[in-house]
Formats: sequence, C-alpha cells, structure tokens
Amino acid sequence: MASLTLTNVVKHYGSGKHAVPVIHGVNADIRDGEFIVIVGPSGCGKSTLLRMVAGLEEITSGEIAIGPRVVNDLEPARRDIAMVFQNYALYPHMSVFGNMAYGLKIAKVPKDEIKARVDKAAKILELGHLLDRKPRQLSGGQRQRVAMGRAIVRQPQVFLFDEPLSNLDAKLRAQTRIEIQKLHRELGITSLFVTHDQVEAMTLAQRMIVMNAGNMEQFGTPEEVYHRPASTFVASFMGSPPMNLLQHAPGARPGTLLGIRPEHLDVGSVGWQVVVDTVELLGAERLIYARLGDEPLIVRVEEGGAAPHPGDTLRVAPRADRLHWFDATTGKRL
Ligand code: ADP
Repeated sequence: MASLTLTNVVKHYGSGKHAVPVIHGVNADIRDGEFIVIVGPSGCGKSTLLRMVAGLEEITSGEIAIGPRVVNDLEPARRDIAMVFQNYALYPHMSVFGNMAYGLKIAKVPKDEIKARVDKAAKILELGHLLDRKPRQLSGGQRQRVAMGRAIVRQPQVFLFDEPLSNLDAKLRAQTRIEIQKLHRELGITSLFVTHDQVEAMTLAQRMIVMNAGNMEQFGTPEEVYHRPASTFVASFMGSPPMNLLQHAPGARPGTLLGIRPEHLDVGSVGWQVVVDTVELLGAERLIYARLGDEPLIVRVEEGGAAPHPGDTLRVAPRADRLHWFDATTGKRL
C-alpha cells in the first residue's frame, strides 16, 4: 500500500503547434489506503489522468509519485498498480482460475503461492464455486468480479478502476458498488476510481476529484462537495436535479449568483412568490418546476397532500443557512 502524489501534472496530446492541452496542472495528495473517485462529464480528462498514473500515457510535465517513488519514467509493469477496466478483458479460453492466475504465472510466482492468492481472492469475491468455469459461462457481474480478482491477486500498491460498472445494469451496478466498498474495507488498498456518474461518486468516494475541462474544480469529501461546492460547475454537476442558480432573486447582490438546492426550499405561506410550470411525481417525493420572475426554479418536496398545478402561484422560502454565493463572472464560490 502507498500514498499517491500528483504534482502539477500536465498533459498535452501531440506536440509543437499541434499540441492539444487536456490536463492543465493537477495537484492531489492521496493518502495511503484512501478510496478516491475522479468524476466529471465525458471528455473532461478523467481517463487521461488515470492512464498517466498507470503509465499508459506519458505526462507532459509535473510529477507522479507512488509512495516515495517518482514513477514518471517507470513502465506500467514496474509501477506496482493493477487496473480494472470497463470491458473486463478476460481470456475466453481460460477458466476463472486461469484468468486470475495468469499475471502471476507470467511473473513466475511459485505455483503454491499462486493457488493461495487466487483462493483467497476468490473467497473475498465469492467466486470459489466458479473457478473452473469459462468467462462465457458467467453473468456480467461475475465477469466483473473475476476482473477484480485478477487485480487483487497482484497485491498492488494502488488499484485503478476505469468506469468498471458502466456495462452493468442498474441493479447489478448498485450491488457491485457495495462489493467494491466491502473489498476496500477488507484490503485497504489505495484506489483511484473513474466515473462520470455522480451517484457512484457520492456513494463510493472517501474523497473525490471533480474535473471540468482538464481542471480540478474541487478535491474533497462527498459532504464538502455537496454542501460547499467550490464553483457553479460543481454545484450543478453534483446533485440531481442540480442546484438552482439565480441572478435576480430577492436579496441577490449584483455580480453574484445565489445558489440554493431544490431540497432546501420550503413551500408554505412565506417566501418568494413563484409560478408553477410542471410537477414531476417521483414516488416518495415530487419535483416542482417553477419560475421566480423570469428565472427557472426547481423545488423538491416530500410527497403528500395535493400536488400543485401548472399556473398555480406558490410561496417558497429558502433556508437561510443553505444559501450559496458565487461570483457571476468566474463561477467561483465566494
Ligand atoms: P474522459 O475520460 O473524462 O471522458 P479523456 O481523458 O478520455 O476524457 O479525454 C480528455 C480530452 O482529451 C478529450 O477532449 C479527448 O478528446 C482528448 N483526447 C483523449 N485522447 C486523445 C488522443 N490520443 N489524442 C488527442 N486527444 C485526445
């Protein structure tokens, strides 16, 4: 196990006047044993960042260290990392045991030791009864567990996960999320997990790196990112529906955006006067899409009582301790 330190990490694809900058200087001190999620929309540079840690992409400038060791110039096989991909990349002609053992065989680990490590990983992942099967005889979730098993037996310093759950259906995704958490509790291996899914990020991360167009917008715990977003980008990206951002709300200051999450608005007899556009029923709760003057406002309320109708006028009160203020020009939190 090891810490992972990124210092001013920059990546340009191509060179000279054709260089395309995609990572603009990322700094992160990841502690030994931490589970870190890198989250952001498609194209923001998540995979590039992960692949630079893995050694599958060169870094243009800056430094990456695993433990005390700077790994900039080390080839992937010597970095002591193991990677789990979205497509499980299992060998179809090998059994589950063969797939999990393969990397160790290549590394000339003694046979007894291989068997002991595979058996231990299979036990953790509940794959013990499937060791003789071929990948085609497994479900998608089981294949993903084999891919994780293959990474575990390597006993790496760092686990790298590249959107490993995106090929699974919603139910299996939720289940595998819980398994990954359990695995991390048991093994305590420093992990970097890439996803574009904010729910996955919120539920898995001890801390998360929120990326936007090659910049690290925020590095913090799920609570910090949700309750003290560093920018309007983070405020809108984390949370569904996103935070309301208002320019002309009563009490708003010039040059400043007022942010309030949909669940921090109370419908009652006081507060802002809004006009209802539509109402979405979600079972336990409902979303009211309304207008405050000419600005859209989403309100999340618990289900119960009569739902308002389009055209109705309501009063909604923002909770005073839940207001966020952002610079209207830079989008940064004030
Ligand atoms: P993400 O994983 O967040 O979807 P990527 O790291 O894959 O984003 O890509 C970041 C940016 O770098 C994107 O704009 C993408 O088009 C660009 N990019 C990725 N790979 C290459 C490449 N080999 N050459 C040029 N540009 C690339």
